[in-house]
Amino acid sequence: MKQKAILSQLTAYKQGKQSHEIQEAYGLDRIVKLASNENVYGYSEKVKDYLIKQLPELNIYPDGYTAELRTAVANYSQVDENQIIFGSGSEEIIQIICRAFVFEGRNTVMAANSFSQYKHNTLVEGGTVKEIPVTSEGSHDLEAMSEAIDENTSVVWICNPDNPTGTTITEKELLAFMENCPKDVLVVLDEAYKEFVEEDFLLDSHTYLAAYANLISLRTFSKAYGLAGLRIGYGIGNPEVIHSLNVVRGPFNTTSVAQLAALIALGDQAFIKETKEKNNREKQKFYAFLDEIGWHYYPSQTNFIYVSTPVSGMEVFQYLIENGFIIRPGELLGYPNSIRITIGTEDDMKELQCVLRKFNK
Ligand SMILES: *Cc1c(COP(=O)(O)O)cnc(C)c1O
Repeated sequence: MKQKAILSQLTAYKQGKQSHEIQEAYGLDRIVKLASNENVYGYSEKVKDYLIKQLPELNIYPDGYTAELRTAVANYSQVDENQIIFGSGSEEIIQIICRAFVFEGRNTVMAANSFSQYKHNTLVEGGTVKEIPVTSEGSHDLEAMSEAIDENTSVVWICNPDNPTGTTITEKELLAFMENCPKDVLVVLDEAYKEFVEEDFLLDSHTYLAAYANLISLRTFSKAYGLAGLRIGYGIGNPEVIHSLNVVRGPFNTTSVAQLAALIALGDQAFIKETKEKNNREKQKFYAFLDEIGWHYYPSQTNFIYVSTPVSGMEVFQYLIENGFIIRPGELLGYPNSIRITIGTEDDMKELQCVLRKFNK
């Protein structure tokens, strides 16, 4: 077959076992999934109430322009409606960006071991990736990333807060980077965990768009909003960039149910506030626990923590799975001897501490 040569060197995304499969395999009563940074508190009750009463007409194609949600996001984000693109998760927007900006001979620049889809989609489009190691604090090394840009660079990926390290960059660092960055290089600020960031660490990304036509920020309803199963996210950039991406975008790429749920979810900011507060409380408690057992971690601005482990992450992963917890071993994320744990509910985190304490003895 005459497929792209690169495809034989890449693998399809390999998801972990489904919770019920693990439960059966290990004879567990229940399994707590702390592996994919989903919202452990569910999603807004308002979404459920509304969808039960007013399910969209499923026999009709969705509104390809996403008009109602577009107006709501424009108001919420204080941008114009022509600055927004919606996707089936922000992951689809990453894919669209690569399809629009990457081809053979081009490269993209990212932090090493950051979100895997930047690299995967770059390679699928025939480009190459320059991966720049993070600093000793786990942060993007924006100076080194800046130096890595060459005349064939079309996209730079900045994951802020970063997955998997949970760290953020400062406004000063970002603006210095943007000043240096060639105007024809698209800078993607992936803000999938923005809703979890503490006030002092927040970047007001949309206010920089006026100064930088080559900036785009990505947001999602999958994490804090708790709608990962519906697949909807969006990008906010300048109209010219958004126009190019819209040419590539499929005509009906988000479903009517997802559009409606996202609209209601966006309107329930009380749910987001509550999620953030609970997450912060549990995160602080878990920091104290990690300090006590002497496991190093990067302080996180997200709903997950990246932790160094005294043995291989795979070993901790296996031990935890046998005790009813699924987490992400660092080996799968490019870092050995570490794990990434989503912050769970109060009860689940208490239980996790008990289990980890036994392991560390
Ligand atoms: C989860 C995640 C996304 C995308 O999630 P979608 O469900 O596709 O919206 C994007 N970037 C990062 C860094 C993530 O962790």
